[in-house]
Amino acid sequence: MKSSPDTLKSIAKEINQCKKCLLYKDAVQAVPGEGNPHAEIVFIGEAPGFYEDQQGVPFVGRSGKLLDFCLEKIGLQRSDVWIGNVIKHRPPKNRDPLPQEISACKPFLDRQLKLIQPKFVVTLGRFAMEKFISGVYISRVHGQPRFITWGSNKFFLFPMYHPAAALRNPHIKEDFYQDFKRLMYFLKNPSKITSIEKTVNL
Ligand code: URA
Repeated sequence: MKSSPDTLKSIAKEINQCKKCLLYKDAVQAVPGEGNPHAEIVFIGEAPGFYEDQQGVPFVGRSGKLLDFCLEKIGLQRSDVWIGNVIKHRPPKNRDPLPQEISACKPFLDRQLKLIQPKFVVTLGRFAMEKFISGVYISRVHGQPRFITWGSNKFFLFPMYHPAAALRNPHIKEDFYQDFKRLMYFLKNPSKITSIEKTVNL
C-alpha cells in the first residue's frame, strides 16, 4: 500500500497513538509539538513536564513562561517559531529520558525537522543538543552557532541551556538571557557566524 506523504498533522496523529516505548502508559497524553509549520527557527526541549502532559502543548509550565518572556524580548511570538521535544510523552516524575526512549522517539523529531526545514535549530538543554553534537559540555558551547549538515538539511545549530536550569541558577539565567540576545543578533546577521562545520548522520 502506498503511504501518503508526511505532514506535521499526520506525524502528530502517529505520535498520539505511539506505543514504541512504555512512557505512554503513565502519561495523560502525547505532546507532538506546535507552532509555525514554516518556521525559520525551531526550539527543541527535552520532554514534556507535568503541565505539558496535562495540556498536550510544549513549554506551558514555568520553563515555558521563561521561554515566552525571552521570545518576546527578541520580538518573537510562539506563532513565529515551532517548538517541540526530543521525547513526546512525559517521563514519570520528569526523570531523564532513557536511551531506548530517545531512540524510539527519534524518527518523529527527524521527520518533523525535515518537513519544517528551519534555518536555526535552538536546542534547550543537554538532551536536545546531543541529538546533533556529542562530546561537548553545554557550559562551553552554549550561545555559539555552528553550521550543521544533517542529511539533505542544512541549518545553524544554536545550543542553549534548558530554561529549567536557568530558573534554578541565577548565573545560568544570565547566560540564558545573553544567549537570546546573541540568537537575535545571528538571526539578523547570519553572515557574522564564523561556524565550526559539522555533518551529522541521520
Ligand atoms: N521542558 C521541556 O524540555 N519540554 C517541555 O515541553 C516542557 C518542559
